[in-house]
Amino acid sequence: MANNKRKPGKKETKLGETGPKFKFSLIYIGIALLLYIIISTFLISQPQKGEEIPYSRFKELVARKKVDNLVITPANIRGELKGMSWEELLPGKKIPSGKPAKPERFETIRVEDTGLVNQLESLGIEYSGGIEKKSAWGEVIFWSAIFIVPLLIWIFVLRKISPARDMMQIGKSKAKVYVESKTGTTFVDVAGCDEAKEELEEVIDFLKEPQRFTSIGGHIPKGILLVGPPGTGKTLLARAVAGEAGVAFLSMSGSDFIEMFVGVGAARVRDLFQQAEKLAPCIIFIDEIDALGKARAAAPIPGGHEEREHTLQQLLVEMDGFDTKKGVIILAATNRPEILDPALLRPGRFDRHVVVDRPDIKGREAILKVHTKSMKLEPDVELSVIAARTPGFVGADLANIANEAALLAARRRKRGVSMAEFEEAIDRIIAGLEKRSRVINPKEKKIVAYHESGHAIAAASLPGTDKVHRVSIIPRGVSALGYTLQLPTEDRYLMTYSELMSKLAVLLGGRAAEYLVFKELSTGAANDLERATDIAEKIVKEYGMSEKLGPLVFDVTSRQQFLAGLYQPSFRKYSERTAQIIDEEIQKLIKDTYERVYRLLEEKRDMLERLAKTLSDKEVIEGEELESILSGKV
Ligand code: ADP
Ligand code: MG
Ligand code: ZN
Repeated sequence: MANNKRKPGKKETKLGETGPKFKFSLIYIGIALLLYIIISTFLISQPQKGEEIPYSRFKELVARKKVDNLVITPANIRGELKGMSWEELLPGKKIPSGKPAKPERFETIRVEDTGLVNQLESLGIEYSGGIEKKSAWGEVIFWSAIFIVPLLIWIFVLRKISPARDMMQIGKSKAKVYVESKTGTTFVDVAGCDEAKEELEEVIDFLKEPQRFTSIGGHIPKGILLVGPPGTGKTLLARAVAGEAGVAFLSMSGSDFIEMFVGVGAARVRDLFQQAEKLAPCIIFIDEIDALGKARAAAPIPGGHEEREHTLQQLLVEMDGFDTKKGVIILAATNRPEILDPALLRPGRFDRHVVVDRPDIKGREAILKVHTKSMKLEPDVELSVIAARTPGFVGADLANIANEAALLAARRRKRGVSMAEFEEAIDRIIAGLEKRSRVINPKEKKIVAYHESGHAIAAASLPGTDKVHRVSIIPRGVSALGYTLQLPTEDRYLMTYSELMSKLAVLLGGRAAEYLVFKELSTGAANDLERATDIAEKIVKEYGMSEKLGPLVFDVTSRQQFLAGLYQPSFRKYSERTAQIIDEEIQKLIKDTYERVYRLLEEKRDMLERLAKTLSDKEVIEGEELESILSGKV
């Protein structure tokens, strides 16, 4: 899903993109052309070069009248050779290849020889004076060309591989700052995160009328950090704030600041703030700030992160030196607040945090409404049902579902999108694309059928579990071979011990069913086991639910701690013996639960067989059929 949905026709400029850059490359071409002309004329104007011979040899040839038409310059003497063979000119030497059959011209370095002219006169050899064609100026051009040409090539190559386009514009590389005078996004486009919206309301009021606030002297936060999982709409929300306030939106991604040249990132930060000052009131938005603001201590490679640190330092400096009164608010987004440098979170910087959480059932419905607004829906579509079926989904996933459903309907040449398309879209998003064509062998299919039945029966039989909505063994994606979809009847923020234990049992149910039936283990349960272990660990270490250890918390940094800037990489605060007990408790929890669900399935072996058999035949069971099997009526 595209992060920044930009509607066409919206005014949006990439500053410094066209004008200067275009001119710049013209200058390059001009310089290159000029150099080429100078060098080539210089080379052409060079007199024909002759064979170089020693002066003594030249004198000898003069005496034998073998030379003529001499040009005597202050530095050397050139001329024609008459009736000479190579053998004669360079006795004993190899005849140079690629030369004419006979040597025609020679050249020699001049030696102080006052008698030469008289000798030439007496022998009747023609001679004339000449000036050195290789003037000092030519020399300069020649040598500078030798340096400039590689330099130009180097710059050219760099321009190709580096986003920092122009060497001379490095500090001004604005190409990546997206400046939008109007984002066109408003709070109507962002559904479901009402708390976050409420918190941002104040910022909007301020941006609308900065004077009103500053005259009262109220404290306006400088930086606000949007924290939340990927796809929850942080970027969208930031744009909506700008849209609601009707101010310009300057955005840049954290990774854009990190360049191969040292100092570029810092220059960009400076530039960004300068632009913001000009455009105030406006919003500076730094997306994915974690790329830039990783904790400095958390970077283990020495020397490898200097550039990032410079950039981060510059950002801190700019933020500190920035006056909110000018009407600029700095927003940033991250899904990994725990790795941010504490310096970024200090008062006067990003000291305000707005949590953008996964939407609850109502929120999901609202988001679906936004994304199906322009779609033609059949009357059977109930967004509330889709919302109930997609717990844990974020806005981006839901946007995906709507999109996918529309595509499916189009492919099937339907007039509108019906529930069937939504169902399939959900399936696809949940477990990756359906691969109906993937052949699984019958043995594998049987194992998966029992495995999924194990999950389903455990979920249907244990207290405090979500209702089983559908069981499927259609192969999807790479890892998940099948899935059992449980629908929570309501959204949960709190879980009791017995609910957690039931959840654990459901996760282990797949593996237990496999072992019960085949007396053998398979790798199909790896993901279940991972999640089960995670829950067991949380029960013992985080929720303080272990009998042996009591209500103690081990090894957790709470969000409150973190948001207060007290985050520290956690060190173990308990003894070796306690560590051992923790491990034992986790193991015991898993083992006991596994045995419990194993016995349960043993008791319900008939049901297990029936479900697995039906599943093998139909691949998907849901609705009444599923209910009747799970309630043991059949
Ligand atoms: P984030 O920045 O938190 O990773 P984005 O803002 O990039 O998430 O969201 C990606 C896309 O998902 C958005 O462009 C939008 O289409 C959709 N989306 C996410 N959250 C919401 C929401 N709360 N309401 C409507 N659409 C949403
Ligand atoms: Mg984003
Ligand atoms: Zn499983």
